[in-house]
Amino acid sequence: MTTSTPTATVQGWLDGFGAALSRGDYDAAAEMFGADAYWRDLVSFTWNIKTAEDPAAVRQMLETTMPLAQPGNWRIQGEGSDAGGIIEGWFTFETAVGRGKGHLRLIGDKAWTMLTTLQELKGFEEKKGERRIKGVEHSHHPGRKSWLEKKTEAEAVLGFQKQPYVVIVGGGQGGIILGARLRKLEVPTIIIEKNARPGDSWRVRYKSLCLHDPVWFDHLPYIPFPEDWPVFSPKDKIADWLEMYAKVTELNYWGGTECQRARFDATRQEWEITVQRNGASIVLRPAHLVFATGVSGVPSVPNYHGMESFRGTQIHSSEFSSAKDWSGKQVIVVGSGNSGHDICADLWEHGADVTMIQRSPTLVARSDTLMEVALGGLYSEAAVKNGVTTDTADLILASLPYKLMPALQVPVYRQIKERDAAFYKRLEQSGFMLTFGEDDSGLLTMYLRRGSGYYIEVGASELIADGLVKLVTGEIERITATGVEMKNGLALSADLIVYATGYSSMNTSVAQLVGQDVAEKVGKCWGLGSGMAKDPGPWEGELRNMWKPMQQPNLWLHGGNLQQSRHYSQCLSLQLKARMEGISTPVYGLAPVYHTS
Ligand SMILES: Cc1cc2nc3c(=O)[nH]c(=O)nc-3n(C[C@H](O)[C@H](O)[C@H](O)COP(=O)(O)OP(=O)(O)OC[C@H]3O[C@@H](n4cnc5c(N)ncnc54)[C@H](O)[C@@H]3O)c2cc1C
Repeated sequence: MTTSTPTATVQGWLDGFGAALSRGDYDAAAEMFGADAYWRDLVSFTWNIKTAEDPAAVRQMLETTMPLAQPGNWRIQGEGSDAGGIIEGWFTFETAVGRGKGHLRLIGDKAWTMLTTLQELKGFEEKKGERRIKGVEHSHHPGRKSWLEKKTEAEAVLGFQKQPYVVIVGGGQGGIILGARLRKLEVPTIIIEKNARPGDSWRVRYKSLCLHDPVWFDHLPYIPFPEDWPVFSPKDKIADWLEMYAKVTELNYWGGTECQRARFDATRQEWEITVQRNGASIVLRPAHLVFATGVSGVPSVPNYHGMESFRGTQIHSSEFSSAKDWSGKQVIVVGSGNSGHDICADLWEHGADVTMIQRSPTLVARSDTLMEVALGGLYSEAAVKNGVTTDTADLILASLPYKLMPALQVPVYRQIKERDAAFYKRLEQSGFMLTFGEDDSGLLTMYLRRGSGYYIEVGASELIADGLVKLVTGEIERITATGVEMKNGLALSADLIVYATGYSSMNTSVAQLVGQDVAEKVGKCWGLGSGMAKDPGPWEGELRNMWKPMQQPNLWLHGGNLQQSRHYSQCLSLQLKARMEGISTPVYGLAPVYHTS
């Protein structure tokens, strides 16, 4: 093996690995991984989203998946690089049915991390670039139909004379993005959305809401935001973008349509999905059902003693629209996550007397700091200038196994704490209970483990630190006729109580629409099994049930923030397309269910 340059080292490793696999020598292939090596595969070999976390697991995954996958053409893409003794490089490869892209990190001559991802299926590539369709018939004949006529006819037939292959329930950003990918792959799909228009899931949220993630993190596939798009999209602006996107990607988007129930017919291997559209009940019979009903879809409202006695108004944060009616009124906001903070700030701006009740320590990170210290290398203008495309950034993120993330994030948060020490000191002096996660690994890991417990500071923490938004910490004893009584006896009065208490797991939607039995069969959604708060073990290594096969056949979950929806919709769309085309998709390592909810 030539080790003179990083490029030669990476290609040398790939050559040796490819040769061992061609010989069927899985011992030799596995020995090319170090003692603490990770191989993360997104669909290309496992037809699953799976990370093997030690040499024995790597060997087992190789031995089981490679005979059918028949990989080859392992080639470095671009140049390798040396980052402090870790040699890195991108590579491409092929399997019997697809083409893939991967990333490799070597320590010495052994792999430390390997990512493999399926990019396209042979013979079923998206019709882009050289494969672009002509869009017109350059000839004349009677009865020739226009694009619009053909489109209108196809829309009228789908769901009635012709059944879709996939039904997506939920037409928020997740459903729309997956729908776009399936459209490009020519998978007949209908998106069911109870709101009238694409984008409404953002429109209905509180008026002051702007995305907390920056534009570079938020691009949708195929149509990136223009260069002058604001860093933080106001929610109605992102809603309009989604509406435009759904139109130009030609989605079969059934707005104003509610999915009422779904049942899997195991004999026919198809779903029977009842939807209500324009007053009519329609039954759809697709092979696959995707829930894109929102990780933040079903509100979670606590059940406090005495709630029924409260004489004012009580709402969940998802029902809070605007603070304008609460000027001069006393408002209690229960909860200290993003929504709780945003709503407190909105109320304060409108002249309400606001108190936040913080029940447990919360992670706060200043937006500017996060952008610079945590996200900047991958998702920023500087990253763009350095040639880090959105795809590259997503793949770099994907190349870091979840098990490694806490250790990689702890130093980032050490830096954040130092940089914003004065801010944190003032916040704590106000009584605010701060945390950076049970293992100090910060926001990203907390998001992956539990999807809650943090606030990206865009001003509300300053209001708390300055005492302009009042803060009460501790447990609520009960709700009284006039407000809230805390366990320590403190009584607070309120005209409005907002429960900014988060959302329940996506399998609540599964329980509501398919049944409790299927929800329990599928089990908990989201979380990694870290054993930390709200993420019980055992360790699973990947997000539970997201974008991959579950214990209930032909049922899938999709969602998350825009980055996740963009990136993982590709994995999910290729899994669905492969099944539609009858490609063999043996699933390696289907995750067992440890928690029913
Ligand atoms: C206040 C708030 C702020 C957020 N800020 C950000 C942010 O800055 N950046 C970010 O990336 N993420 C953010 N998120 C998280 C997440 O990205 C959003 O919740 C996003 O909307 C998720 O998209 P989704 O498509 O998965 O789900 P949703 O947008 O929730 O869409 C689900 C859709 O399913 C529909 N639906 C549900 N049940 C049915 C049914 N039975 N029949 C028909 N339709 C149904 C709903 O009407 C809804 O439109 C935020 C979330 C909240 C609540």
